[in-house]
Amino acid sequence: MYDIIIIGAGTAGISAYKEAIRYTQNILIINKGPWDTTCARVGCMPSKVLISSANRMYDIQHADSVALKVKSEIDTSNVMQHVRNLRDLFTRATLKDVDSWNSAHKISGEVKFINNNTIEVNGQQHQAKSFIIAVGSTPNIEPTWKTELGDKFITSDQVFELKNLPKSLAVIGSGVIAIELAQAFNQLGVKTTVFARSKKVGALTSPVLQNLAQDEISKDLNIKFGILPDQIKNTVSGVKINFTENDTPQTIEVEYLLSAIGRTSNLNTLELTHIDSTYSNLKNLPIDKQTKQLGEHPIFIVGDAFTTTPLQHEAAIEGKLAVHNCLKFPNIDNIKLFTPLGIVFSSPEMAIVGENYSSLTSQKVDFVTGFVSFEKQGRAIVLGKNIGAAEVYVDRKTRRLLGAELFVESAEHMAHLLSWVISEELTIDQILEKPFYHPTLEEGLRTALKHARRQLNS
Ligand SMILES: Cc1cc2nc3c(=O)[nH]c(=O)nc-3n(C[C@H](O)[C@H](O)[C@H](O)COP(=O)(O)OP(=O)(O)OC[C@H]3O[C@@H](n4cnc5c(N)ncnc54)[C@H](O)[C@@H]3O)c2cc1C
Repeated sequence: MYDIIIIGAGTAGISAYKEAIRYTQNILIINKGPWDTTCARVGCMPSKVLISSANRMYDIQHADSVALKVKSEIDTSNVMQHVRNLRDLFTRATLKDVDSWNSAHKISGEVKFINNNTIEVNGQQHQAKSFIIAVGSTPNIEPTWKTELGDKFITSDQVFELKNLPKSLAVIGSGVIAIELAQAFNQLGVKTTVFARSKKVGALTSPVLQNLAQDEISKDLNIKFGILPDQIKNTVSGVKINFTENDTPQTIEVEYLLSAIGRTSNLNTLELTHIDSTYSNLKNLPIDKQTKQLGEHPIFIVGDAFTTTPLQHEAAIEGKLAVHNCLKFPNIDNIKLFTPLGIVFSSPEMAIVGENYSSLTSQKVDFVTGFVSFEKQGRAIVLGKNIGAAEVYVDRKTRRLLGAELFVESAEHMAHLLSWVISEELTIDQILEKPFYHPTLEEGLRTALKHARRQLNS
């Protein structure tokens, strides 16, 4: 009987293995498919390579914002190969690490549970005292569209395999993955049309910032809010999409349809009902939000498989800490310890830190909102990137910073600073005693913090 069996070797599973091996050799890690992680192969990394080329191209084409006249001839024909070259660099590093592990610890195959301490893979059964389930998630697809379109229907799993940038693209969805990819392709010259079921882009929950983001992003990107295709047809040259806009039937033709309508957990592959017959509704599993324990079992479900924070850094820490819950069982600890931090690599970037506006209002927390617009902010003007705004949320009673939402250039960096001060439970007065270098975008944050403090003091 193994001490721990880890199911899934993505970010969370690999992190769990690397922690577990420090304490016991009596472990097994089993993975279906490639061992190079969703993040490195088809997620965080290739998407950020694409976005990086897109942002650079945008900056070259908009160099007039810093008084440069540029006659540019931009050849984008290497972009997709560049995405794959760097993607391969990242996946190779992961695979090299996995290759160095004891081969007796690794099995390739799909796991199913037989009962609460036995699994089966490749027709063989294995038992363990505890399990870490880290099976991740997979893109949702509309099967009728896939059947109709064949290879012209793609998700984030296939998009980075496109040999060349397409001439045109329809993106279904306006969530984080949809907006990041749609905006990047659009900036790279791909005629992109987004069909968004809701009137929302990315992840911002503040109505003020969400409206601002919609206005700004749809200046360059054709987003059809509240519209989904009525009909999708495969044609010789591509994909014909019929839809209705302002009560008028419309048609566009594009080369590919990129579906980005969310992701579903891979827990459905595990036959968890063999552990407990009540585990048939996978969305309603009795998983403790803090310890990630499944029911009363020595089974911990980490990473994207069951989460409200499908993020790489959350998956990595959950995988690592779940090992200690396995080894100390039944004495277990909370493993959801990070201050929430989510970043959308749109342009400008969006970020949500700590408590978001929506959760604070729905919990009826007594807080004030400090606001700053970056339109007239010194450093943002200097950079020629004076777009967007930020909000900080401060508890009226404790004066502690609770959270923030940002839609601004370099939000990724400011969001880190904010998440660190939130995790230190600093009050607004303590934060405003910190140095703010001049001239920086962080001075804009100070403006928002001061705006909040004025309201607290009034
Ligand atoms: C396009 C895109 C962009 C993203 N960008 C970012 C970003 O910028 N920043 C960020 O933080 N996050 C980003 N993410 C999210 C991030 O990639 C995930 O949070 C992270 O990869 C989750 O890791 P995981 O270990 O839970 O799952 P995965 O890495 O998906 O690993 C799960 C593994 O389990 C295997 N498996 C499934 N079922 C079974 C079974 N029954 N038996 C055995 N093995 C099984 C799978 O094949 C897979 O190998 C992005 C995701 C996508 C798709």
